[in-house]
Amino acid sequence: MRCLAIDIGGTKIASALVENNQLSDRLQIRTPQAEGAQAMHQALAELVAHYQGQFDAISVASTGIINQGVLTALNPKNLGGLAEFPLKESFARHTDKPIFLLNDVQAAACAEYQHEDKALVQNFVFITVSTGVGGGIIQQGKLLCEPRGIAGHIGHTLADPNGPVCGCGRRGCVEAIASGRAIEAISSQWEKSCSPKEVFERYHENNPQAVELVERSAKAIANLIADLVISLDTQKVVLGGSVGLAKGYLACVTRHLNAMPHFYQCDLKSAQYGGDAGLIGAAAWAEQQI
Ligand SMILES: [Zn+2]
Repeated sequence: MRCLAIDIGGTKIASALVENNQLSDRLQIRTPQAEGAQAMHQALAELVAHYQGQFDAISVASTGIINQGVLTALNPKNLGGLAEFPLKESFARHTDKPIFLLNDVQAAACAEYQHEDKALVQNFVFITVSTGVGGGIIQQGKLLCEPRGIAGHIGHTLADPNGPVCGCGRRGCVEAIASGRAIEAISSQWEKSCSPKEVFERYHENNPQAVELVERSAKAIANLIADLVISLDTQKVVLGGSVGLAKGYLACVTRHLNAMPHFYQCDLKSAQYGGDAGLIGAAAWAEQQI
């Protein structure tokens, strides 16, 4: 099957034809977020027109939550002019081929899971620790994405009831403790302020402030993984994202996880796919549906 895969992010929209995990004719445009719904309809129309006649299905990985084909978010204000955008309907105007939609981190989970031995690993979670913290949950070999597209928003589970208020409005979410944004909120206040990337450089120099901050993030992620294992019987977790893939981070999370009783532990590895995980995962998911 030849799939037109589209990855809609907050700042850019990537697209490509995907067949057997291979990308061709990859394009990237700016997300017309501020211009609102009409500009988005127009951009998607032009995108589909470019690939017309070359695909058997369209599969869309998008930021936010896909609820019954409509784009929303835990905090819809973050989507600006695209809150409640009718994604599925917008594509359906231009094709009679099947259209599949899922969240971008759920798509990345599909991309990462496709190479697993399904006889060995049925319960699998992909966690991205980046600007935010997100996840995609595969349970008994199937991605959890119905009925409202919420499953996998594990960055908004509780890490510390006395922690900072999260962007979603709840206090103490994992994202408010572990994410790149949460790291920056603290490191930008330091006397020698720095970016999350520099926090990791200082971490490797054993700077006590940086060590404490990275440990705090990694410990929150280790606790999140333990909660997943004990509630979902998760067998394997794959960690991605700019923080998740930062040198030394996986080892730090592993150390915190291994310090817990063995019931809370699971196989923990780094993600294989980088920026194209959304496109590849969207195509893999469409293939499963057909
Ligand atoms: Zn939250």
